[in-house]
Amino acid sequence: MELRTLGATGLRVSAIGFGGSPLGNEFGNVTDEDGVRAVHEAIDCGINFFDVSPYYGRTLAESRLGQALQGKREKVIVATKCGRYEKDGFDFSAGRVRTSIDESLRRLRTDYVDLFQAHDIEFGDGNQIESETIPALREVQKSGKARYIGITSYQLGMMARIASTIPVDTFLSYCRFNLLIGDMDRLLTPTAEGKHMGLINASPLHMGLLGEAPIPAWHPAPQSVRHAAAQVRQLCRRHNLNPAHVALRYCLQHPYVATTLVGVTSAEQVRTNLQALDLQLEQTLLDEIEALVRPAKDIVWPSGRPENQDYAG
Ligand code: NAD
Repeated sequence: MELRTLGATGLRVSAIGFGGSPLGNEFGNVTDEDGVRAVHEAIDCGINFFDVSPYYGRTLAESRLGQALQGKREKVIVATKCGRYEKDGFDFSAGRVRTSIDESLRRLRTDYVDLFQAHDIEFGDGNQIESETIPALREVQKSGKARYIGITSYQLGMMARIASTIPVDTFLSYCRFNLLIGDMDRLLTPTAEGKHMGLINASPLHMGLLGEAPIPAWHPAPQSVRHAAAQVRQLCRRHNLNPAHVALRYCLQHPYVATTLVGVTSAEQVRTNLQALDLQLEQTLLDEIEALVRPAKDIVWPSGRPENQDYAG
C-alpha cells in the first residue's frame, strides 16, 4: 500500500483510508463480527488510516473500531470527531469538545487519537467554531489526547475561510471530488496546499451511488445525480470494469490528497477495493464518463446553516 504524507502533520497515511461510518450501520446492518473482520482485513492489507465519529451509528462505529483495534492500536492512525451526535444534534462548545474526547477514547479503548476533528462545521456558527471549538481542540492536543486537529464539512468555502483565520492541521471534504463532482479543487485544495495542510478526500463513491449496494434513505443527492451515477455504473460494466474500482482509482490519482476514505461494509469489499490501486484508467473511458456526467456535474445539495453554503440559493 502506498503511503502519503498528510500535510505538515508528517503522518504517513495509506492512499486508501478506512471509512468508518458503515461500522455504525449507516449503509445497512453490519454485524459486530463482520465489522471487526473488515477492520482486521484492512490492517492486513496495509490500510493504516481509520476515520470514525461518535455520530456514526450514534457511538456504535467507535465502539466497534475500539473492539477491533485491541492489541493493534499502535499499527494504525485513528481519526475521530466531535460536535455532531445526532442528525440534528450538534454541540461545538468548548465544554462539549472536552467531554467528547474522553468519551471517544473510552469507546476506542485508547489514550490518544491521532486526529481529532470538528464534524460537519457548517451546522455550527462560524464565529463559535473559530473562537471556541478550534481553541478547545488545540487544548485537547496540548493535553496529549490528540496528536493533530482538523475540521470536516460539506461546505468547502467555510473551511477555507476558517483556516485562514485560525490554523488547523487537516481538512476533510466529502462528495466534492470524485467522478461526479470536482469543485474541491477550486474551493479547498489551493488553501490546503498553500498552507501545507493535510487534505482527506472522503466518499469516492459519492456515498455509495457509484457502488452497487442499496442507497440509504438518508442519501441527499437529487435525482439528476443518481441518474448520472447509474449511467456511469452501466458504462463501467459494459467495459467489464467494477464501477466502484473505477471511482476509487479516479480519486487516488489526485496529486495532493493524502488519503481517500472509502466506506466498506465487509472484509471482501476491503480486499476487492485494493484492485483499484493497479487499475489503469483509459482516457477514452474518462472522456465517456465525463460526457455522461456533464448534465449533473458539480451539483450540490444544501447542508448546514444558510450563511455557510458555498453557493447562494
Ligand atoms: P463512500 O463513497 O465511500 O461509499 C460507501 C458505500 O460504498 C457503502 O455502501 C459501501 O458498501 C459501498 N462500497 C464500498 N466499496 C464497494 C465496492 N467495492 N463495491 C460496491 N460497493 C462498495 O461513502 P462514505 O462511506 O460516506 O465515505 C467514506 C468515509 O468518509 C465515511 O465512512 C467516513 O469515515 C468519511 N466521511 C466523513 C464525512 C464527514 O466528516 N462529514 C462525510 C462523509 C464521509
